[in-house]
Amino acid sequence: MNVLKFGGTSVANPENIRKTLAVVRTNSKDSNILVVVSAFGGVTDLLLKAADLASKRDEAYHTIFQEIELRHIDAVKALIPVTKQSAVLSGVKTRLNGLETLFEGAFLLSELSPKTADLIAGHGELLSSYIISETAKYSDLDAEYKDSRTLIITSDAYGKASVDFNETEKRITEFLKTNRAQVNILPGFVASTIDGNTTTLGRGGSDYTAAILASLVNANELQIWTDVSGMYTANPRIVKQAFPIKRISYREAMELSHFGAKVIYPPTIQPVLEKEIPIWIKNTFSPDDEGTLITNQPNGKNRPVKGISHIENIALITLEGSGMIGIPGVSKRFLEVFHQKNTNVIMITQASSEQSICVGVNQADADTIETAINEAFELEIVRKRIEPVQVEKDLAILALVGDRMKSHQGLSGKMFSALGKNNVNIRAIAQGASEKNISAVIAKTDVKKGLNILHEEFFEDRLKQLNLFITGVGNVGGKLLQQIKQQQSYLNEKLRLNIRVIALSNSRTMVFDEKGIALENWEALLEKGEKASPDVFLERTTNLNIRNSIFVDNTATDFISRKYSDYLRNSIGVVTCNKIACADEYENYEELQRLSRKYGGSFLYETNVGAGLPIIDTLNNLVASGDQVNKIQAVLSGSLNFVFNNFDDNTSFHDVVKQAQEEGYTEPDPKIDLSGVDVARKILILARESGYRLELSDINNESFLPEESLHTKDNDSFFKSLITHEASFNQLLANAKTNNCRLKYVAQFENGKANVGLQQIPEDHPFYDLQGSDNIVLFYTNRYSEQPLIIKGAGAGADVTASGIFADIIRIGKN
Ligand code: ADP
Ligand code: ASP
Ligand code: MG
Repeated sequence: MNVLKFGGTSVANPENIRKTLAVVRTNSKDSNILVVVSAFGGVTDLLLKAADLASKRDEAYHTIFQEIELRHIDAVKALIPVTKQSAVLSGVKTRLNGLETLFEGAFLLSELSPKTADLIAGHGELLSSYIISETAKYSDLDAEYKDSRTLIITSDAYGKASVDFNETEKRITEFLKTNRAQVNILPGFVASTIDGNTTTLGRGGSDYTAAILASLVNANELQIWTDVSGMYTANPRIVKQAFPIKRISYREAMELSHFGAKVIYPPTIQPVLEKEIPIWIKNTFSPDDEGTLITNQPNGKNRPVKGISHIENIALITLEGSGMIGIPGVSKRFLEVFHQKNTNVIMITQASSEQSICVGVNQADADTIETAINEAFELEIVRKRIEPVQVEKDLAILALVGDRMKSHQGLSGKMFSALGKNNVNIRAIAQGASEKNISAVIAKTDVKKGLNILHEEFFEDRLKQLNLFITGVGNVGGKLLQQIKQQQSYLNEKLRLNIRVIALSNSRTMVFDEKGIALENWEALLEKGEKASPDVFLERTTNLNIRNSIFVDNTATDFISRKYSDYLRNSIGVVTCNKIACADEYENYEELQRLSRKYGGSFLYETNVGAGLPIIDTLNNLVASGDQVNKIQAVLSGSLNFVFNNFDDNTSFHDVVKQAQEEGYTEPDPKIDLSGVDVARKILILARESGYRLELSDINNESFLPEESLHTKDNDSFFKSLITHEASFNQLLANAKTNNCRLKYVAQFENGKANVGLQQIPEDHPFYDLQGSDNIVLFYTNRYSEQPLIIKGAGAGADVTASGIFADIIRIGKN
């Protein structure tokens, strides 16, 4: 004999009930079966809500009752042949009338005893099992209805009744002697006292009904049919990457369900474990899926961590004080209060100093427990030996579960550092004595993020997700999006990275999509977006609280760079080509580095110097490996190179600068390049990265621009001034030619001092042949003292800048 249990969703409506009966039919071919059914999905909640309203003299219970009534009557009409409907409808009405009387009683007395509450709650299963068994009879199944209340006998602790296994076994043995039907259909959840009063087995308890029956009829197997294809590595509704666990041990399943994996009700396992009856978790809506097999020999894939579960709405109850040390029995007294109040203790941690003990409970129990503990320790509290109990609410527990965890080192370290890196703050930690679980208490608002981080860490040894929030989609940003789109599959396959763009903003509009913006038509999506606001962008990004979030700044504006500290403080990485932050006052530059270290969000700005060239990264590696930078000589302005390489007797200075701007070789404001400010910022950043504490004002910048051009207010007047002063630019060129030199804008750092300026470069100098917009940097260090370390290549342009930003993003991914 087998026992099959169908949950609320499996019987939620006529269509689903037909699917359930198809599974029943297939399974009754080779063996007699007991079929346990839940209430139609959601009905138990409705019953309890209506009961509560009625007992508070709120007439609104009528509406809920009518909803319940309608669902059951409609089901009969859809499932039972028309000619047979009236008998079944009258059976349903009799039950509904009984229910209505109970509500009325609660209303009149303004009271709801646990006994009445149980009887009301049980009506969901009483109704569903009756309708389903009638449907089965009319579908050519050899089916009978059997009321579980005549078989399963419990104590009279209504709401939390415990099963009398001796009496129940006697009754089941009797039942088996006389039972002839191939299929018996029974209500789950409900049971009865020895006196015949209805009790229930706790929320989710239909699983338990099925397990009790399976154990006492010595079933070959217990099948739990539900709405997912097995027990998953994490709740599949929250972790999209979760997958069904093929094989799992009883103990592991028990731990997972204890910590919230609702797919199976925790007490379910005990009765079948004793007899080693295998449990299958199967999907009613996809019956061919393999599902999960729970046994003593879980022979599955040998991962140390089998699953991750979580419970929301947890409160932490902490007792603290010097009076706890060395005084035996304080912990015992503390825990006894929970026992007396019938409160489920979900986890316990005790500080090794014995100064405090901390217990996790359901939030709903917190207030009662708080009062009870303060009463129990009143004397110690008055004498200030122990502090009044502390209660923290709105927390959640995340738990890693696996039989083999105890033989693996470092799992807890991995768990806590993964959470920490993403700024998920851990309030308390507990490791089960059996070492089959490690659990952490975190804020409820971090649950989704925390589960996904842990799932990625322990199950997705393959794909890591990076989530980008991009501001600036012009020249550089547009290219970046193009490159990301183009490289998606390569990154997936070769680097196991999955890059998603969650948000985009330009100066006018912004768009967010938590599931990832489709890069095929981001322009249209952004166009239709809401009004842009850097503040709202920051707030949204922080509130979304997604793991591995990276803010990408492709702008050159200071009001965007001023937000970096807020992103970093929320452990959100920052990747930027905007130089303003790193060239700002040293204190601010240092603060960003500090925030990055403290909160673990990377701060990368390789493109601040030499666009996509690996200049800063190389410098960082030199310094980190103990080298010392003594001198830097460089041509760092791709824009100025472009200008002076194209400026000759046949062109005007103005036209060349215009062309540079149009081809994306200059900053949006070209004066920043032409005045040398941009180069000064770059050498400043290199000096700082080499370990020197320099300010922009320390850098000697001898600009070649006439005063008038330097003081223009906008791009138009700047360009006009270039025409006005054409002669002075032609003179610079003529002088260089006379000396057989070329003009290069050179940056130099030596002995702690830096300067930038236009220089005449002779033919034998490494800078002489610099082409187009190329950059070159010479690092003279202790290790590279004779021959400098040289980095040379394209140092400006949207494409190479975008690829430098992309490289920083990937660097974070590989980290
Ligand atoms: P039923 O009504 O069939 O008893 P439940 O709603 O009680 O179904 O349990 C199934 C649900 O459990 C799934 O739909 C899923 O949302 C939730 N769940 C939570 N954790 C897990 C997990 N680790 N694996 C599978 N399902 C889980
Ligand atoms: N119907 C009950 C509940 O919702 C029992 C169950 O579905 O397992 O809690
Ligand atoms: Mg359930």
